[in-house]
Amino acid sequence: MSFELSPEHEAFRRTVREFAEAEIAPHAAQWDRDHHFPVDVVQQMGKLGLMGLTAPEEYGGAGLTGEDGAFTSLCLAIEEISRVDQSMGITLEAAVGLGINPILTYGTDEQKAQWLPDLVAGEKLAGFGLTEPGAGSDAGATRTKAELDGGEWVINGAKQFITNSGSEITSLVTVTARTGRSENGTPEISTIIVPSGTPGFTAEPAYDKLGWHASDTHPLTFVDARVPESNLLGDRGRGYAQFLATLDDGRVAIAAVAVGCIQACLDLSVQYAGERQTFGVPIGRKQGLAFQISDLQVMLDASRLLTYKAAAMKDAGASSEDFKQAAAVAKLYATESAVTATRIATQVFGGYGFMEEYAVARFYRDAKVLEIGEGTSEVQRMLIARGLGLPVE
Ligand SMILES: Cc1cc2nc3c(=O)[nH]c(=O)nc-3n(C[C@H](O)[C@H](O)[C@H](O)COP(=O)(O)OP(=O)(O)OC[C@H]3O[C@@H](n4cnc5c(N)ncnc54)[C@H](O)[C@@H]3O)c2cc1C
Repeated sequence: MSFELSPEHEAFRRTVREFAEAEIAPHAAQWDRDHHFPVDVVQQMGKLGLMGLTAPEEYGGAGLTGEDGAFTSLCLAIEEISRVDQSMGITLEAAVGLGINPILTYGTDEQKAQWLPDLVAGEKLAGFGLTEPGAGSDAGATRTKAELDGGEWVINGAKQFITNSGSEITSLVTVTARTGRSENGTPEISTIIVPSGTPGFTAEPAYDKLGWHASDTHPLTFVDARVPESNLLGDRGRGYAQFLATLDDGRVAIAAVAVGCIQACLDLSVQYAGERQTFGVPIGRKQGLAFQISDLQVMLDASRLLTYKAAAMKDAGASSEDFKQAAAVAKLYATESAVTATRIATQVFGGYGFMEEYAVARFYRDAKVLEIGEGTSEVQRMLIARGLGLPVE
């Protein structure tokens, strides 16, 4: 058993860190203030190969396998980007985990050939439309419908809070929709690819969010939106199951966003506590403060180990039950730790921590959603309890 990353992974981390510090960190606060989604930087992440880390070479990807630690590389990239800006971290996470992943995993050769090269290059983005106004944690309660008519799916309904779904480079969203009834009478849910620009499909104006201001999040509406029957993604009736499996990967990637956030909180807190003077000494001399920063180190190490362990399990081809459990544990612990870490870091900065000119204020606003997206903390606890064999609802 080794708790060290390989030299290749460490070198890759340095490359992404240099990119993040040069191209993202200096601008993150301004993008946040302006609610600006920096398309050029998203495309630069693509040029650096970050969107293609888990994709085969034939679609322009790195051609890495589990043996190479492909998924671990993705998590490292997400962590390093999130260390300077969670908005760009989640943009990368969603681009790969929610945009590319379903098409790569469930798409036909034709669908992959049509959509993946631009997505893998980072020239385009894809959204993942599961959540609806009345179906979030209870995502199986989807109301959106798709009916076959003359060789086309006719889609009606609405999706909510969908990341990367309405940017100027969004090429498609995959959506879950009811496509009929199963033999046992329950709704049959399938996944359908809806290209941007399809008449009747509208990405409504972006949300005014508490944080992640520089990420792209929209409500979507579908009014008689017609797409070819061949846009069915994966098996008919398996849409919900496919999306749940996609979310297992996504949860580890969200945990990586949290790890980056905690690392930033620790770095900024250590530096500030050594500089800021009260009562004639640096505030880091005061145990009341220094001990809180010690807790950040503990949270960071534990969150990172859980996240890397889950990523390594994915790379090693662990069973889906084991991986699901590890993903939920990592997501739950790392994201709740990130929220706590931003509260501590803001406290370390005192009044300055409440001022937007200090990054900790932005991190404080950004972190909260980590406990909500891709399954709330309550949903993670429910999954973990089920994994333990408890008869929890
Ligand atoms: C910025 C942002 C980006 C997002 N991006 C995407 C995206 O790209 N694609 C997508 O499909 N979705 C996306 N989401 C949606 C996100 O996954 C949902 O918001 C989340 O799953 C919770 O669903 P909900 O908002 O409907 O809350 P609800 O399900 O209504 O939950 C409300 C509260 O009740 C609790 N609760 C619900 N059920 C239970 C239960 N059984 N036991 C205990 N507590 C329970 C929840 O934990 C929560 O605290 C995004 C959300 C945000 C905020």
